[in-house]
Amino acid sequence: MSYKLVCAGCSKTVQDEYTLLCPHCDSILRTEYEGPFKPLEEPGLGRYRSWLPVPDDFTYPAAPVVYKSEGLANELGLNNLWIAFNGYWPERGADLRSCTFKELEAPPTFARAKACGAKTMILASAGNTGRAFAYVGGKLGFPTVVLIPNACRETFWLPEEKADCVKLIAVDDADYFQTIQVAERIGKLMGFQREGGHKNVARKDGMSIVVMAGYEVMMKLPMHYFQAVGSGTGALGSYEFYNKLFTSGVREKMPKFHLVQGSPFIPMVKAWRDGRDTIVPDDFPQECQDPGYLIGLFAKVLTNRSPPFGGTGGVHEVLSTSKGQMYGVEEEMAKIAGKMFERSEGIDLVPAAQVCVGGLLKALDEGEVGKDDEVLLNITGGGEARYDKEVGKKLPNFDFRISGPDALDDELRWPFDE
Ligand SMILES: *Cc1c(COP(=O)(O)O)cnc(C)c1O
Ligand SMILES: [Zn+2]
Repeated sequence: MSYKLVCAGCSKTVQDEYTLLCPHCDSILRTEYEGPFKPLEEPGLGRYRSWLPVPDDFTYPAAPVVYKSEGLANELGLNNLWIAFNGYWPERGADLRSCTFKELEAPPTFARAKACGAKTMILASAGNTGRAFAYVGGKLGFPTVVLIPNACRETFWLPEEKADCVKLIAVDDADYFQTIQVAERIGKLMGFQREGGHKNVARKDGMSIVVMAGYEVMMKLPMHYFQAVGSGTGALGSYEFYNKLFTSGVREKMPKFHLVQGSPFIPMVKAWRDGRDTIVPDDFPQECQDPGYLIGLFAKVLTNRSPPFGGTGGVHEVLSTSKGQMYGVEEEMAKIAGKMFERSEGIDLVPAAQVCVGGLLKALDEGEVGKDDEVLLNITGGGEARYDKEVGKKLPNFDFRISGPDALDDELRWPFDE
């Protein structure tokens, strides 16, 4: 394990105790690695461990798959379209069974947590993050607690039967935001490790494995990088990876970041196109206050209410440094784009990835991308329908239920009091 944690604000080096923010100035942290970027000769995520904040024995069997597109490329008239596929697609060797790139961040996060002495991981997620952590935590035998708003419970699936070391807790009458707060309270009461979201460097670096794999296969950087964003953590990780490459001596240009959200929930698109580096209440749809509203949206995973947009190392910095652009894509257009992808490439996409392909269509419309430009399209999730058909999604039983966001401490303690 040879990495340093360095503060993006005051540049001080920080000792890693699964530290989430700089103890001196509260800014986000970044990793630094020794030596050039050099993937190892092994399959899966272990290939990239020299640039992950994990011990030297880190391995994980699956990884993203990067290939040069023919089908979609022809359809769009692009000569250099590269696809980074995250999900389940047996013919291509893609075996991320939770079907999204959240499965790239879970293994390094558990490895970092273990190395830092954590015994139990806790997080709140209604969707892909919760599924990835419940699945990977179960495979590793790492005690993991996942909280989910009760309203999302029926759609929550796992790739396999839930392991005993994984506890699923539904929170009644709570939206996603309130569920996070309950998870924080349980974490404090019980001494469980909070996962940390965009503040977790293992999460950022884990998601950047997509662009690591892109660089390895393309053997150069793309001119354009496309990704659907909710919190923006994946984009921050990719941006940080490119900067680390430059620091290590690689002489190439920073790719333009094209980041996509699903209309009508497009706070970052509105702020960026308006020339602001802060998100204001008007950037959100009016109906947002109603917890049922978000649950009904097409690409729910892209509906983060407090993304790290402004400030040092935030999404705004990524966009301005890379001369990037943002796009809002309506459900109807996302579905058309998703069908086009499925027809031309041969695999189904999760809604967020359909939104991303819709963003590529918009960028072409707006003249942002030339037909010979090298494009890397991050397909953040796919093959879920295929997985369901061939293997079968499992709908897990929940272990506990909490009465609501204002539950008393005793109620938050009881599930673990044995
Ligand atoms: C989480 C997620 C995203 C957005 O990633 P952020 O890091 O939150 O911006 C995009 N696509 C899928 C499938 C996701 O699960
Ligand atoms: Zn600092």
